[in-house]
Amino acid sequence: MSEDILVIGAGIAGLNTALALAPHGHRLVLLERDAAPPSSDPDHAFFDWSRRGVGHLRHSHAFLARLRTIIKDHHPALLEQLLAAGCREIRFADMLPDALKAAYAPEPGDQDMAVLTSRRTTLELVMRRYVEQLPGVSVVSDVFVRGLLLEPMEAGQFRVAGVKGEVGGEAHEWRAAVTIDAAGRNSQAFEQLQEAGAAVGEEAEDCGILYYTRHYRRLPDRPEPQSKAPGTGDLAFIKYGLFPGDNGCFSITLAVPEVETGIRQAIVRPEVFDKVCGLLPGLAPWADAENAEPISKVFGMGDLKSRWRSFVSSEGRATLGFFAVGDSLVRTNPLYGRGCSFAAVEAQILAGVLEQATDPGVRARLYDTRVRDELTVYYDDMRSQDRAAVRRALRARDPDFAPTLQQRLRQSFIDDGVRIAVRSDIHLLRAAMRDFHMIDPPGAWMKRPRHMAKVVGSWARGKKRNAHLYPPPLGPDRRSMLSALGIAEA
Ligand SMILES: Cc1cc2nc3c(=O)[nH]c(=O)nc-3n(C[C@H](O)[C@H](O)[C@H](O)COP(=O)(O)OP(=O)(O)OC[C@H]3O[C@@H](n4cnc5c(N)ncnc54)[C@H](O)[C@@H]3O)c2cc1C
Repeated sequence: MSEDILVIGAGIAGLNTALALAPHGHRLVLLERDAAPPSSDPDHAFFDWSRRGVGHLRHSHAFLARLRTIIKDHHPALLEQLLAAGCREIRFADMLPDALKAAYAPEPGDQDMAVLTSRRTTLELVMRRYVEQLPGVSVVSDVFVRGLLLEPMEAGQFRVAGVKGEVGGEAHEWRAAVTIDAAGRNSQAFEQLQEAGAAVGEEAEDCGILYYTRHYRRLPDRPEPQSKAPGTGDLAFIKYGLFPGDNGCFSITLAVPEVETGIRQAIVRPEVFDKVCGLLPGLAPWADAENAEPISKVFGMGDLKSRWRSFVSSEGRATLGFFAVGDSLVRTNPLYGRGCSFAAVEAQILAGVLEQATDPGVRARLYDTRVRDELTVYYDDMRSQDRAAVRRALRARDPDFAPTLQQRLRQSFIDDGVRIAVRSDIHLLRAAMRDFHMIDPPGAWMKRPRHMAKVVGSWARGKKRNAHLYPPPLGPDRRSMLSALGIAEA
């Protein structure tokens, strides 16, 4: 059944919603507060596209295989356009450690286990241009949505009849059978419903880190550095990631635990950021002034939360004619790179629900249940990893911390068992990467007895016999880093 649908926001979730719903014949209007892209040139978009609605637009982004596969299966032409614009695919074969490269034989599915990466402005620009061409879709820029049009039903229940907002300083209303909130992390729809007395709820928890990103461009004729040290790493007091981008660009993100006040305050300074990169072997050759030039300041971002909002109560009372997709529904720690995949999965689920049911209450409950069935396992897993990271960051600051035997064993099992087994066994690495890419549920691979046997076997072989399997050191310890940066120990 073809319906008129309003979408608040034309960010990642709004665009994915259009990709999922338009092929079903729906007529969609995306209302976006920010201006349209200045042109179709990726550099122009990166330097000049004003996007006050997306504070994290210029932070590193990558799309996991879960999202890339949705694009490839449903909109192969979009994937081609992304690649033509310079977006990169980093495949399973590209990530293999040396020990596994020589004997690698591709298996079905390996080709699709790829990260799609570029400056987010490029990803969004190409997606937006593609969505604007889809039949039945229009994207209206410079529209600030001020609120939902709420019609009270029985106690605690409302129907959303559309939205009210402003265009060029003038008030407008848009009405539709279905309203989708894709306004991102700062969406006000939840607060409006809560204040009106709707049966909504949320759970939220700090991620415990802050994000710092700087963009660079390789100097002409300089090849990409081929370092044996990994481009991503976790030193407890700092986590880092290298994101190869489009058109010779790349970005580096340093994530610093909230408790590391000294590092946080210093790292926003470009010279400190670059110095940190120079001390991390996996990043040093990339950020080296001989190879690359910075093309941005250091962007910082705090207020990173995991947050799940619910628009259906435990008794099944729902907000009717309304669905939240993307960060307005679920926010996750950006470290895992799953937010955009979450949005795409939710949009796919919503398309199926709108096809299957017509009753607004049934639709709301189906959507709520299916999103929970699909995504809760990943959400819970990320939260428990975040809590563990917060604990490790606290311990890293405590010079007197002496781990218990149980803690030492647990850490050794991860460092000397799991990580080494994964680096030495292609089947384990493939299974772990399927987890990373949200193809399999988190941790499922470790529950398989033959996988666990391999991990335990690897651990039992001991550090000496596994010495050749350890990666080069990720970076200095905390004390050396603080001293190199001239930061006094708190
Ligand atoms: C620092 C950082 C790094 C991240 N890195 C990754 C990553 O590598 N991979 C990944 O998958 N995810 C990543 N994420 C998560 C990902 O960016 C989000 O999950 C994703 O942007 C959510 O899309 P969204 O459309 O819900 O929100 P947004 O992308 O924020 O889009 C919301 C849109 O709504 C518009 N809007 C807002 N309010 C209004 C209004 N009142 N009226 C009209 N329009 C409005 C905004 O202008 C914007 O266009 C990262 C997040 C952060 C914070």
